[in-house]
Amino acid sequence: AAKAEGRDRFEVFDARLRREQAERIRTVERLREGLEAGEFTVHYQPIVALRGGAPVAFEALVRWTPPGQDPIGPDRFIPAAEDSGLIVGLGEWVLRQACADAAPWYPTYGTTISVNVSPRQLAEPDFADVVRRALTGSGLPPEALVLEITEGVLVRSGAHAELTLAHLTRLRADGVRVAIDDFGTGYSSLAYLRDLPIDILKIDRSFMPDDSSDAQQTALVRAVVDLARSLRLVTVAEGVETAQHADLLRTLGCDRGQGWLFGRPGPAPGAADLLYDWRDGSVPVGRKSP
Ligand code: C2E
Ligand code: MG
Ligand code: MG
Ligand code: MG
Repeated sequence: AAKAEGRDRFEVFDARLRREQAERIRTVERLREGLEAGEFTVHYQPIVALRGGAPVAFEALVRWTPPGQDPIGPDRFIPAAEDSGLIVGLGEWVLRQACADAAPWYPTYGTTISVNVSPRQLAEPDFADVVRRALTGSGLPPEALVLEITEGVLVRSGAHAELTLAHLTRLRADGVRVAIDDFGTGYSSLAYLRDLPIDILKIDRSFMPDDSSDAQQTALVRAVVDLARSLRLVTVAEGVETAQHADLLRTLGCDRGQGWLFGRPGPAPGAADLLYDWRDGSVPVGRKSP
């Protein structure tokens, strides 16, 4: 009986695996079609100087809207795009779109544009050329572009770690800057800070305290800001949702903040409006909407 039960369970498990695999294949197929049909858009979220409140940068965040459906967030399709390799084409499209949208902002406002880059893209032999073409094609100067990578990028690019490092080193020599994203959520974080050619450190939103007056809760974010500052990295806090967060970060000497307090991700025209309003002096960023 035990044996039969075991076999049944195995068959159930096997059926579920096959269903999940079929689901994955369908998602990848729909992603491929969606890419061809132009179902993707890029939204922009402001990154604000904690002293003075200027919107100094935007992060490009991809969205997918299949016909007749609500927009789907990247957490639900980036993993499938990475597994299938589709992220290479999708990531290149996001990069070109973001450079094109941000090119007119830079000369007037000096705002940089941050683009997320997956380890799969960095493992492509022509990645640095793809970035250079996106810059030349859009007229965006290299200084205005930031590439966001995660701590695990060298591990996740596996045999391509050398290539990844070479791309980043070449692009930095051009003037492109590199940010480490979601800092503190990966592993061997401290060794990566030493080994990766980076300029900016983004502190993951999980470090934002529920209570900014609780010394226990603020100890970690304080330590990360101190560490980044001693390495001369620009610090950006993610997930700044409240005025208390912003006050704490200012006290700790964090340079920049990104989060709902300063603005949600939205289409390019809204980002341009935000810049215009800021320069106009009439609407301080973060006090615009509730
Ligand atoms: P990320 O790079 O860490 O981007 C920040 C995420 O935090 C965004 O989620 C943003 O909407 C969200 N966020 C911003 N402010 C707040 C806040 O105050 N509170 C909270 N709770 N969340 C906030 P989103 O847009 O869903 O993107 C999720 C992730 O998907 C990104 O995390 C990034 O890793 C990935 N991603 C987005 N676009 C791309 C892309 O073009 N290429 C690649 N490879 N990955 C992308
Ligand atoms: Mg990011
Ligand atoms: Mg992040
Ligand atoms: Mg994050």
